[in-house]
Amino acid sequence: MDEPTITAKPCPDCGGRLELGVARVRGTLWGLLTFGLSRQHLWWVGSRGTETVLMRSGTQERARRCESCGLVLLGGGAP
Ligand SMILES: [Zn+2]
Repeated sequence: MDEPTITAKPCPDCGGRLELGVARVRGTLWGLLTFGLSRQHLWWVGSRGTETVLMRSGTQERARRCESCGLVLLGGGAP
C-alpha cells in the first residue's frame, strides 16, 4: 500500500501530521435513489448565523487532514 503524502507544516491544532488529499462534494447512489438528483453544497455557517457556500456540487478542493485529531483544512497556501 502507498504511503500517504504528508505536508511539511503540522496541524495547527495539535501538531500532528497533515495528509494531503482533496475534499469532494458529490452524491451517493443511496442519495440518488432516495432523493433524486438534488444538488448538494458544502456550507460554512458562522457564529452569527451567516452562511457561505464553501464548495459547490460536483466540485473538489485541495485539502489537508490531520491523522491525529481529524481537523480538515480546505484550500489554502503551500503544503
Ligand atoms: Zn490535529
